[in-house]
Amino acid sequence: MTFIATVLTLYPEMFPGPLGVSLAGRALEAGTWAIDAVQTRDFAADKHRTVDDTPAGGGAGMVLRVDVLAAAVDHARQNLADRPIIALTPRGKPLTQARVRELASGPGVILLCGRFEGFDERIFEGRSVEEVSVGDIVLSGGEPAALMLLDACIRLLPGVMGAASSGTEESFENGLLEYPHYTRPAIWEGRTIPEVLRSGDHAKIAQWRKRRSEDDTRSRRPDLWERHIGARVQSASGAQHEVQDE
Ligand code: SAH
Repeated sequence: MTFIATVLTLYPEMFPGPLGVSLAGRALEAGTWAIDAVQTRDFAADKHRTVDDTPAGGGAGMVLRVDVLAAAVDHARQNLADRPIIALTPRGKPLTQARVRELASGPGVILLCGRFEGFDERIFEGRSVEEVSVGDIVLSGGEPAALMLLDACIRLLPGVMGAASSGTEESFENGLLEYPHYTRPAIWEGRTIPEVLRSGDHAKIAQWRKRRSEDDTRSRRPDLWERHIGARVQSASGAQHEVQDE
């Protein structure tokens, strides 16, 4: 099944862009995924093809008009109705690997790229649009965010990544950061590789990796660590409840 991405944008020439090369590019050629970059301006109703207007209440910048956005979304939905519709916005829910996995296992996605000050708020409820952020940063447009979301989905599509296991050991897949990697040369500018990795003892290596993954998550990403611990406690007490219920 082909994963179909429709991107509604004022800059369709930005797509597939970097997704046309390497892993994603080969998968695009192979038909594992497809992309339709749609010019939002084509859905403007006036002869000047206006897509934006001044913000209600005043202030700087321009806002994407809800009627134009709705017409573009309705057009995108015609082809394939059951795809989630996602607007890229810093006000959205932070994108997670779990959500990426869900999206990658579905038929595809419709992405709305903002520009200027962003979207007229009414589009989100009016067309059941999910708001997603790619980080606590402000981009000049939704396009790089869309590329990022698509890249994360595409690498998970069947057959795109080489080794089947490399997708599941990655950072965030188990709620932790991945352990660090090393390769040859064994000594570089006086710096060595952790001895255990050269021991050939697979059980010990696995133990070391688990430990580093936990330690690094705790020190670098206390937010992830808290959640990980919380989930562990919850699943342990959940298991207890099940035993008690029987
Ligand atoms: N005025 C807005 C920012 C607009 S930036 C605010 O302060 O919330 C212009 C467009 O870039 C947005 O509409 C959105 O589509 C995109 N964008 C910027 N930062 C983003 C982020 N962190 N995640 C996803 N999209 C982003």
